[in-house]
Amino acid sequence: MKTAIFPGSFDPFTIGHADIVQRALSLFDNIIIGIGTNSLKQSIFPAEKRLAHIRKTYENEPRVTVEIYTGLTVDFAREHNAQFILRGVRCVADFEYERNMAEANKHLTGLETVILYTRPEYAHISSTLVRDLYQHGYDIKEYLA
Ligand code: ADP
Repeated sequence: MKTAIFPGSFDPFTIGHADIVQRALSLFDNIIIGIGTNSLKQSIFPAEKRLAHIRKTYENEPRVTVEIYTGLTVDFAREHNAQFILRGVRCVADFEYERNMAEANKHLTGLETVILYTRPEYAHISSTLVRDLYQHGYDIKEYLA
C-alpha cells in the first residue's frame, strides 16, 4: 500500500489543494490530509471547521482521510506508516521552500517527498489570497473546494 501524507495549513482548503489531491490519487492508494496546527501560526478559520469542510469534500472518496495534527510532519507520517509526503508547487518561491523541506525530511527519516506542479489556471490561488478576500468581505466560494 502506498500511503502519502498531504500536510498543510489549509486555511482554507482551496481548489488548488483539491486539484493536487485529485491528481495524486492516481499515484497513491491512500492520501491522508494532515491539517498542521501550530500555536505560533495565527489562523483565520478554526482547525475544526477546516477539518469538517475537507472531510465533507471527500465524504465519497474512502481513499482520502483527514486529520488534525500538531508537531512535526515526519512524526505524523511515521504514526500512519506513510512512505511519502505530497506537496504542491506553484512558483519559484514555492520551489525553494519545498526543496529545503524535502531535503530535511529525507535526511531525518528517509521519507520521500513527491511534488506536483499546479495547474497554470490555479497558480495564483493561495490560502493567503483567499483569507485576504474573506477579511475584506468578498465572496470566496469560487476558490473553495
Ligand atoms: P503550508 O502552510 O504548509 O504551506 P498550505 O496550506 O499553504 O500549507 O499549502 C499546502 C501545500 O499545497 C503546499 O505544498 C502548497 O505549495 C500547496 N498549494 C497551495 N496552493 C496551491 C495551488 N493553488 N496549486 C498547487 N499547490 C498548492
